[in-house]
Amino acid sequence: MSGYIGRFAPSPTGLLHAGSLVAALASWLDARAHGGQWRVRIEDVDTPRCIAGAGEAILAQLAACRLLPDGQVWWQSRRGEAYAAALQQLVTAGLAYPCGCSRQDILNALAAQGALPPRHGERVYPGTCRNGLHGKPARAWRLRCEPAGLLSWHDRRLGAQAQDLCAEVGDFVLKRADGLWAYQLAVVVDDAAQQVSDVVRGEDLADNTPRQIHLQRALGLPTPRYLHTPLVLAEDGQKLSKQNGAQPLKLDQPIDVRKALRTAADALGLASLPGDDDTAAPADWLAQAVSAWRALHAP
Ligand code: GLU
Repeated sequence: MSGYIGRFAPSPTGLLHAGSLVAALASWLDARAHGGQWRVRIEDVDTPRCIAGAGEAILAQLAACRLLPDGQVWWQSRRGEAYAAALQQLVTAGLAYPCGCSRQDILNALAAQGALPPRHGERVYPGTCRNGLHGKPARAWRLRCEPAGLLSWHDRRLGAQAQDLCAEVGDFVLKRADGLWAYQLAVVVDDAAQQVSDVVRGEDLADNTPRQIHLQRALGLPTPRYLHTPLVLAEDGQKLSKQNGAQPLKLDQPIDVRKALRTAADALGLASLPGDDDTAAPADWLAQAVSAWRALHAP
């Protein structure tokens, strides 16, 4: 399909592992199945969590798998001006405001409200600084989350989705108290700047999607289509991640590459392919995988 632009957007907090290769392969397959482009963006905004050299190493791992980006690789650490302009646009429109609350202030305010424990790993901000800083210095910037009600969206695999963003997430952070840009702002600005038509990524990120759609609307940006892929689970049943021991993929030999791609294809529900056991040209295997993907997620 003309106009299709997909992307893989790893954070360089470590090397690719079996879980992150699934998102890389799925986004690549979907782009190729649509005759589209596949961009790679290194999401190195959360600098304290980034590991020096990991971005370059991820690109080398992708190249070993013959997953080659179209066009320039983007690095979010070089995109600060674009994020600042987006924040300024929201401030000018009255949609973003400075917040002077520390974590403890937020907990105290929630306790005073008798609020329930946090959902989605984040506390719903109690709104303390919505109407001014009450003499405190600004620490972070937040998006004013309104109107209340369900935000509905469609996922190409999961189907109809909805979240009451204001009730479940609330006024979320755009720029952090440590001065770093929040993932939500950076991802929305860059998906639009790279004209991404289709976001294909792991299901663990699905509950960020309503925040991103809300932010796209606030900034007057288009909403891409979304497809969230199944997660690879570790032995303990949790999502496979660096935190629970996912090993970096070793891709030195053709056999390593083929095994890693086959394992990722299994996670994506791609049935066995001619050449699964053949360590020759990965390009041929990938071409077969594109056909199999197309049959599952036909354009
Ligand atoms: N950088 C994010 C991560 O590695 C992914 C962002 C996205 O695909 O939207 O988890």
